[in-house]
Amino acid sequence: MNLTALPAFSDNYIWMLDDGHAACVVDPGESAPVERALDARGLTLSAILVTHHHADHTGGVDALRPRLRGPVWGPARERIPAPFTPLAEGDRVEALGLALRVIDIPGHTAGHIAFFADAVPAGAAGSPGGAVEAPLLFCGDTLFSAGCGRLFEGTPAQMHASLAKLAALPGDTRVCCGHEYTLANLAFARAVEPGNPALAGYLAWCEAERAASRPTLPSRIARERAVNPFLRCGEPAVVHSARERGATGSDPVAVLAALRSWKNEFR
Ligand SMILES: [Zn+2]
Repeated sequence: MNLTALPAFSDNYIWMLDDGHAACVVDPGESAPVERALDARGLTLSAILVTHHHADHTGGVDALRPRLRGPVWGPARERIPAPFTPLAEGDRVEALGLALRVIDIPGHTAGHIAFFADAVPAGAAGSPGGAVEAPLLFCGDTLFSAGCGRLFEGTPAQMHASLAKLAALPGDTRVCCGHEYTLANLAFARAVEPGNPALAGYLAWCEAERAASRPTLPSRIARERAVNPFLRCGEPAVVHSARERGATGSDPVAVLAALRSWKNEFR
């Protein structure tokens, strides 16, 4: 199974999974990058996965329908281009023979879902799409590498609970986020936690990737636990910085709320 990040707009990624014959795509905010990739590789389009309603994640859905040979999946009770199949926590769907589990992760928007797939060993029975080397997570605009999405419709408590669910996934899970925000997020992470030894090495690697016009993504859950301040709201150094920025207490939701407000104005 091949995983590709198709750049869209200025900093979006449309994630594409393909088995050499068919593909599914996640959050096609525009159709042209998807159509070019399908044509270049001779792939059919078998499913569209949508994490949340924002136009930069859904704008290409209708233009792709004429060549779509399968469902559009999206979060229940949200303004996803109709028709689509609504999904919520615990639902399971199958794309390219791969089982995907739905996780509700509200906060960035009221309804926001992630899709998670376990690793599939080479030669496993019932995996027509082939091996999947490590688990996959498509998490839209909730978890970014070294950061998290803005709280447009949800609360800090919702975002904290959503991020905690994602942080509990296996450490080798590949984190496929909706935007290339990693370098800006790392600048903020260093302001929050200047003594975190994991940040410098990761920053150097990300700078080299971006200098070579390569994505910094997918990340891994284990790495995010080490570098992402929004997953580290219980760490004493993170609590200390958040309290200096107005956190009303040291509980993780208050810490996350203060970090998110600080990040909104961080330059
Ligand atoms: Zn969004």
